[in-house]
Amino acid sequence: MTDQFAPPPALGCRTSPVLKQRGQREVFCGLTGIIWLHRKIQDAFFLVVGSRTCAHLLQSAAGVMIFAEPRFGTAILEESDLAGLNDAHAELDRTVQQLLARRPDIRQLFLVGSCPSEVIKLDLSRAAERLTQQFAPSVRVLEYSGSGIETTFTQGEDACLAAMVPVLPHTTARELLVVGALPDVVEDQMLSLLDGLGIGPVRVLPARSIDAEMGIGENTVFALTQPFLSDTHAALERRGARHLAAPFPFGEEGTTAWLAAIAAEFNVSDDRFRAVTEAPRRRARAAIAQASAPLNGKSVFFFPDSQMEVPLARFLTRECAMTAIEVGMPYIHDSIHGPDLDLLPQGPQLSEGQDVDMQLDRCRAARPDLTVCGLGLANPLEAAGLSPKWAIELVFTPVHFYEQAGDLASLFARPLRRKTILNGTSHTQVAAQ
Ligand code: SF4
Repeated sequence: MTDQFAPPPALGCRTSPVLKQRGQREVFCGLTGIIWLHRKIQDAFFLVVGSRTCAHLLQSAAGVMIFAEPRFGTAILEESDLAGLNDAHAELDRTVQQLLARRPDIRQLFLVGSCPSEVIKLDLSRAAERLTQQFAPSVRVLEYSGSGIETTFTQGEDACLAAMVPVLPHTTARELLVVGALPDVVEDQMLSLLDGLGIGPVRVLPARSIDAEMGIGENTVFALTQPFLSDTHAALERRGARHLAAPFPFGEEGTTAWLAAIAAEFNVSDDRFRAVTEAPRRRARAAIAQASAPLNGKSVFFFPDSQMEVPLARFLTRECAMTAIEVGMPYIHDSIHGPDLDLLPQGPQLSEGQDVDMQLDRCRAARPDLTVCGLGLANPLEAAGLSPKWAIELVFTPVHFYEQAGDLASLFARPLRRKTILNGTSHTQVAAQ
């Protein structure tokens, strides 16, 4: 099934030494995930129990959503709450009552912890239990933490999905569960590919509404579409579900390998697999070839941020002819990232965690053509003459599966193209002077 791929490297990175550093980190907090989760889960409301800073983060990250009836908000902890002068639980109950009275469309309410709620040790699990009893069955109340003390920006989604797993019903049905929030159009493409392979029924976590939710049990097999879902992976295994380990569906190779792992589990014939994937594979290869021209032969350095770094390094090195210098991940989980590490040729320094000053020194010394990093590092790196790419865009842009493979390459090519244009402009200006 993988006949047209470059052969796997003789030595992949799975057993490479990993540089582990702990120090100052430069990452967004897990509240960021609310921006894409609230679009995906259409009957949910995300209530951040936090500060004005949290409210500002959400508002500025959400941008245009300000004009819509929002499905997220912040219950602001005032100074008197933080000083323990008020009963924060009673105030939270009041806020929730008002919200649910005003918004009968809400079927699932997520209480989202933040740095301030964590510092004052507000027990949101107790609050969620109490509120569930009060509002069941019309509203389900769950809680998770998006605090910057505990989470990077993609871990918010992981914490949210992991919170949902224990309350899903039990089933003995043999079903495929695909886990990870994808834009609806991408999810539909994936479902159509799986349907073409004759695989079904297919369930998706998170479901678009509580009514579309699925059961979990010992006959459930699950595939992850995002590499940052390790807590959800553990929660599903605790429910008896079995993980289908595979490279992540980025690029033509990743998508084919991901589908092939599922096809093997469901005994899909090679002929059928080829018939379904041949045309989209060809389209993806052509789109990547066109979009990746500026990337060929260039080097890339990944700071740990989105937790998507290893699969993306695999895509850039194997499908876009780049060289990886360092591939940093917030954490590396062998059973989730191992298949991508197997395909990533040995050579780059793998690193886990961060001491940002030391990593910046390594990056400046290596002078990569492209640096993938968080927003906080992009400006200083740009000022140092490097070409940064914001990792956060990779989560806000549809990048999975065949039809988006060219766009994924374009996202990385854009900063290089921009730099070439800027250099061209300045040369022209210099010549005109
Ligand atoms: S959760 Fe923490 S890091 Fe995130 S916006 Fe609130 S205060 Fe800042």
